[in-house]
Amino acid sequence: MWKNVSKGSKVFWRINNVTCSHKSHLALSEYVPACPAPNPHQVEQLQDFVSRSRRLFVMTGAGISTESGIPDYRSEGVGLYSRTERRPIQHAVFVKSQAARQRYWARNFVGWPQFSSHKPNAAHETLCKWERAGRLHWLVTQNVDALHTKAGQCRLSELHGCTHRVICLGCQTVTKRSELQERFLILNPSWNEQAHGLAPDGDVFLTDEQVANFQVPACTKCGGILKPQVTFFGDTVSRGFVFSIYEQMNQADAVLVVGSSLQVYSGYRFALKAQELHLPIAILNIGPTRADHLATVKVIGRCGDVLPHILLRDQWQEESQS
Ligand SMILES: [Zn+2]
Repeated sequence: MWKNVSKGSKVFWRINNVTCSHKSHLALSEYVPACPAPNPHQVEQLQDFVSRSRRLFVMTGAGISTESGIPDYRSEGVGLYSRTERRPIQHAVFVKSQAARQRYWARNFVGWPQFSSHKPNAAHETLCKWERAGRLHWLVTQNVDALHTKAGQCRLSELHGCTHRVICLGCQTVTKRSELQERFLILNPSWNEQAHGLAPDGDVFLTDEQVANFQVPACTKCGGILKPQVTFFGDTVSRGFVFSIYEQMNQADAVLVVGSSLQVYSGYRFALKAQELHLPIAILNIGPTRADHLATVKVIGRCGDVLPHILLRDQWQEESQS
């Protein structure tokens, strides 16, 4: 078996006849924690796991998007909870307080051009390729950044919604976030504040004075309150939606968790469901997860380092024979 080889600050590892280099203990960017090179034995186990599956169910979390430059909340040292005092808005506060909504939308307006411009990375693209090859049965993501959609993923449930959509709390009409940006610009022609740090939900940091005059439009159909179509903290995902995702899992033959610590029950319950359905579980994540004890395969590594090198059954057989 191939063992990791160190040369200077780089570690070389090998999978499926490809040699990969890895800057071992350096953070990849401001938002991606430092991480050792993947353990070749673990990667081989993951390769075997994926090769055996014909109808894979994949669950993704913030760890797949940090490599696209989107900070997460929980990563040690680099997550927003570690770096700042800021906490995401609570659902009840947004619904009850006009001032809170004004603050939320003012920050969201400033952060939108940058937040909406993030691009999917090699890990998102790999999962999309698996779908096109007919091997990925369904994907559920905890992320609200639209990166799977941008990569072209179709068989997808966005568990916590998506920041690229807006819902009216009065008539439930869903509109595009980009259209709301146009309305903000018309209502706030002189508003030209700079972003001072980006949060996972597109929120940015502004002072009270800066938001005091920000104009927030209402629903064009009913005059209702507009909210991102995202599950805020303190809100719950509907049972019907969760059951529809369980249905997809029920048709799968294996479950792969990518870039999630599964710390929040909202995500952890899918690992519990997989166990109940007697589906094997593999986990690819930088740090420990709440479901490590349920997994048959665990790879410690960055999603973008590992996933693009995992081949599907046919490709893998070709490689094995060559
Ligand atoms: Zn409405």
